[in-house]
Amino acid sequence: MADTHSDRPTGGEEPVSGADVVVVGGGATGLSTAWWLARSGVDVLVLEAGVVGFGASGRNGGGCTHGISPLFAEEQRLWPMMDDLLGYPTEFSPHRVRIVLNDEQNTRFQRMHEIAKRYGFKSEALDPVQLCEIVPLAGEETLGGYYHSFGGHANPHRTVQAYAWAIQDHGGRVLQHTTVDGFTVAGGRVTAVETTRGSIGCQKLVLAAGPYTGALTGMLGDEVPVQPARAEMIVTEPLPLMQVGGVDGNGLYGRQTLRGNLAYGGGPHEWFDLDDMAGRRPASSPVTRSIAKRVAELFPKAAHARVIRSWAGFIENTPDGRPVIDRLRGVDNVVAATMSSVGFGLSPASGHAIQQLVTDGECAFTDLSTFSLARFDGLASDWRGQLGWGAVA
Ligand SMILES: Cc1cc2nc3c(=O)[nH]c(=O)nc-3n(C[C@H](O)[C@H](O)[C@H](O)COP(=O)(O)OP(=O)(O)OC[C@H]3O[C@@H](n4cnc5c(N)ncnc54)[C@H](O)[C@@H]3O)c2cc1C
Repeated sequence: MADTHSDRPTGGEEPVSGADVVVVGGGATGLSTAWWLARSGVDVLVLEAGVVGFGASGRNGGGCTHGISPLFAEEQRLWPMMDDLLGYPTEFSPHRVRIVLNDEQNTRFQRMHEIAKRYGFKSEALDPVQLCEIVPLAGEETLGGYYHSFGGHANPHRTVQAYAWAIQDHGGRVLQHTTVDGFTVAGGRVTAVETTRGSIGCQKLVLAAGPYTGALTGMLGDEVPVQPARAEMIVTEPLPLMQVGGVDGNGLYGRQTLRGNLAYGGGPHEWFDLDDMAGRRPASSPVTRSIAKRVAELFPKAAHARVIRSWAGFIENTPDGRPVIDRLRGVDNVVAATMSSVGFGLSPASGHAIQQLVTDGECAFTDLSTFSLARFDGLASDWRGQLGWGAVA
């Protein structure tokens, strides 16, 4: 089995040979794109500054249920097949339950229930008794909930590793510990990426660098507006396995792992400046306690469980909360992709869409116009401040 962790540079390495398509970013978006390209026979190379999944892709809630996205239908079509398609386990587990604790939460979940039915997916309202049968850790005080016979969750670490191995199985390459810090442009095209391991030639380029995507596209004259927010997750000690491991509610997202731990996160988030992300990583914050409190409210029968672990990650956010998947305008051969907080679950579908954009010039299975860069033309330069997304002091 290929080992993606063996690429650590030791100094004085051989120059890296170029590829037809270079993908910058070894998160779920870049890896899925490279996997779709490699399985279509394209010579592809992923460049990752750290290790695969070191960004949000290895730190998220694992949710795969994004009903308001144009990629929703493809997300739902692909996830149940991903283990077979990749050849490695993602721990995908189907279906999703939403617990309602008050009327406001009901309004939000009812919307998802209606959208899903419009798409032809099965979704049922549950009364409190039905809910507690399916989610034994819930309390009798709930107002009930919704059972979605679609969506689900997967293990983020397993999934990014599966993508990386599958890319290599199809002849693609994944080069870790390699940071892209510039581009060579000739004749209106990027002909090479400049990296900590030298110049690497390319015919086409995909920039999928999470919160850093905008800084990279900015070097090519087309800045994608992205602001990072620090989010946290907690993990409890293992609890008896429920029949559905993907249960949301109370402002939380998350899943029950195969071992029984509840792994949960969900607002509030702290806004960060890009430059501060590497250097300033505060210790666990009051957010962790807020999450633990809300997990205990969502699952009163698990309120005794101890929190055994927590971590933080940076979520990439665009001003309107929607992804960007589009070609840059100043150069001919570059696609930019950043997923605005929904990139893990959508990755099988986003990678497919980006691959088609790269190889065919357009996406055949859905309309990507709401992901265009043009929607940000005329965006005020102080958009972060206007949205109240200024960095924490
Ligand atoms: C706590 C938390 C919970 C979340 N929960 C969910 C969820 O339940 N469901 C869901 O769908 N989404 C969730 N998300 C969001 C999701 O994780 C992200 O949208 C998704 O992982 C983005 O993937 P990406 O590949 O686009 O970016 P990233 O995962 O950020 O990957 C980008 C990669 O690019 C690399 N990179 C950056 N700059 C360079 C450079 N110059 N050169 C080389 N490499 C570079 C980085 O090291 C990084 O590995 C959550 C996020 C967090 C933090």
